[in-house]
Amino acid sequence: MFKALSNEGYQFMKDAGGYDANVANADAVTQLPATEYSDETKFLTLADGYDQLPIQLADRFNRAMPGGLPEGERVRMNHRLAEIVIGSGEYPYTLRFEPTVTVSGSTRKVEGAEPTLVRAKKVILAMPRRSLELIDSTFFDDPWLQVNLGSVLIQSAFKLAFAYESPWWRALGLVAGRSVTDLPIRQTYYFGTECEQEGGLPFMNSLLMASYNDISTVPFWKGLDLGTPYEGYRPSCLEPGVNRILPQMEFPATEQMVEVANKQVAALHALPELPMPYSAVYHTWSEDPYGGGWHEWKAAYRLDEVMCRMRKPVEGVRRQRPVLHHHQPRQDVLDEAQPKFLGTYAGPASPAITRVVMEATGCPIALGTIITDDISTS
Ligand SMILES: Cc1cc2nc3c(=O)[nH]c(=O)nc-3n(C[C@H](O)[C@H](O)[C@H](O)COP(=O)(O)OP(=O)(O)OC[C@H]3O[C@@H](n4cnc5c(N)ncnc54)[C@H](O)[C@@H]3O)c2cc1C
Repeated sequence: MFKALSNEGYQFMKDAGGYDANVANADAVTQLPATEYSDETKFLTLADGYDQLPIQLADRFNRAMPGGLPEGERVRMNHRLAEIVIGSGEYPYTLRFEPTVTVSGSTRKVEGAEPTLVRAKKVILAMPRRSLELIDSTFFDDPWLQVNLGSVLIQSAFKLAFAYESPWWRALGLVAGRSVTDLPIRQTYYFGTECEQEGGLPFMNSLLMASYNDISTVPFWKGLDLGTPYEGYRPSCLEPGVNRILPQMEFPATEQMVEVANKQVAALHALPELPMPYSAVYHTWSEDPYGGGWHEWKAAYRLDEVMCRMRKPVEGVRRQRPVLHHHQPRQDVLDEAQPKFLGTYAGPASPAITRVVMEATGCPIALGTIITDDISTS
């Protein structure tokens, strides 16, 4: 793109497109449809909120669709896949899931909880690059996989939503859609007003996505996220029973963040000032286990080939066989295929996973460290 455009043209694509991602140094073919919106674009929202999309998908998979497992037992929330141990036999994969707990939108490991172990014939890891990198397994030692997990760029994203007591943007002729700026808020989207929703209450409370930004502007907001949490205020109209004006989220919006963004929203609309929002929430997609909001194919990778092979990246997966470096102690892996060995120890492993591997291989004893001639001494 930079080859075909002047510097000003390139900069215009970045500023006016709203997304840095549109001009990121990614694969040229996938970057072609850089302009996504026209005057005819229709903006639709989900009646009960965007979270209904994953909620409904999970529910249908769990209940409505046919499946090998009984209805209601197909989705297990709050289990983090921490390790995949590769063995042999009909169920070669042992998956170690750590129980997690989600409090106020934030998910963390339950310290000291026993992991859940699952034996599998086949595994589909439908996860982004960073999530895969966080899983412990010799599977990822495969040289092709190591190179090609890096075939996608991780791109950060940030959203900040404000609730106002009235849709002040209507006075400017703005009803739906978005405005774009080169300020760090980058894009502002106009959402609904309570009384206009089907079955809505007779309130004018309205929602604005004050900022939707990616890549280069995300660090601007990162610099504001450690201050005093924004408290908001109680609007004159509020649904009965609602006491919490700011929903509890993984990352609370701060006073500074809200003040700075509100000023930028005013500047974008050429207004001298705006009322402060009564509520504000934000989310950033840079943290583990996601790493970023979305991914783009990097330049110089054959994405057609990578895409196909990534579905089954390693042919004939071998049992645990860690690559040993000179500074590492020699431990792990006994090859039960060789008769002189009693069984397989895959590690470093918790007592629970060791127990499963011992049972699966009929191994009578597991020592903390096992020396084997299976490992190169070079
Ligand atoms: C702000 C924003 C705007 C976007 N806009 C668009 C758009 O307009 N158009 C578009 O096409 N795309 C858009 N995207 C990108 C799109 O949302 C993602 O590409 C898509 O959701 C990826 O789906 P996925 O199923 O591959 O991965 P994910 O949706 O990331 O699903 C992976 C799942 O795996 C779980 N997981 C991760 N690690 C583990 C583990 N160790 N154990 C168990 N579970 C684990 C995660 O919790 C998650 O539920 C946007 C993304 C963001 C953040």
